[in-house]
Amino acid sequence: MTIFNLGSINVDHVYQVPRIPALGETLASTDYAQGLGGKGANLSVAAAKAGGRVVHVGAVGEGAERVLAELEGYGVGLEHVARREGPTGHAVITVDAGGENAIVLLPGANMTIAGEEVAAALGAAQAGDIFVTQNETNGQEDAAARASAAGLRVCYCAAPFEAGAVSAMLPHADLLILNAVEAAQLQEATGRAPDALGVADVIVTRGAEGVTWYGPEGAAEFSAPKVTARDTTGAGDTFAGYLLAGLDEGQGMEAAIGLALRAAALKVTRPGAAAGIPLRGEVEASPS
Ligand code: ATP
Repeated sequence: MTIFNLGSINVDHVYQVPRIPALGETLASTDYAQGLGGKGANLSVAAAKAGGRVVHVGAVGEGAERVLAELEGYGVGLEHVARREGPTGHAVITVDAGGENAIVLLPGANMTIAGEEVAAALGAAQAGDIFVTQNETNGQEDAAARASAAGLRVCYCAAPFEAGAVSAMLPHADLLILNAVEAAQLQEATGRAPDALGVADVIVTRGAEGVTWYGPEGAAEFSAPKVTARDTTGAGDTFAGYLLAGLDEGQGMEAAIGLALRAAALKVTRPGAAAGIPLRGEVEASPS
């Protein structure tokens, strides 16, 4: 089966600085790195590293060659990533000596996805395939409605949180994944607890504690493996990508959650986003 991911592709520009520049200040960077970023891209990488067949649906502009090559190297299908004039989505990330950061994000081409492009991608889908999206592109609602009508299982990661967008997506979602902060924001916005949202399966991720699954038989808690965290960037995307790959293979929810918890725990022991996401074999060799 296939996982169709309507999601962002960003270029992350990471500048090491002695301190975050003050208003009006110009500061020399002591180190620079460029890398693949975006929640969408990270999720695609995680699902592909898990062994899933992934078709990424999105758009890039200028300067995306390196990140596309990286995605391709991980085995992510790029035939439905459109090329535009204008900028690729990117983040300018300044990191100070203490590891604190300040980020400017330009969504760029991520916000230019046309309904026909999504329709063309989903034209190849079969009932039972998975459709997933997050909040870093345009077009999620139409795409989710289309995927649902075509018999795909619709998964929605409610990040970055925006109350209006999230509420509009709930009627289309079969599976909702959100972190504990987002779950609290959603409850505040809707007045409804995770198990009263009308979504069949809701998973709330709780960092080092693990996750809660609100499913047809009520709430169930799952603990995360104990590790020493080094870099939690992309932990949520790793969890979601592995979970979907497990479900797409035909695993039940409990088994897929177990796999995803091990993958995300291993990720946080490693630096980097996409590059730090472990391979399936490494996850299976890790303690549960
Ligand atoms: P991020 O924004 O860093 O990608 P998130 O805020 O979306 O993450 P979290 O709930 O912090 O989501 O983390 C997602 C999952 O990653 C957790 O449910 C857990 O499985 C795993 N995880 C995160 N931190 C740790 C940790 N310190 N130890 C073990 N697992 C962790």
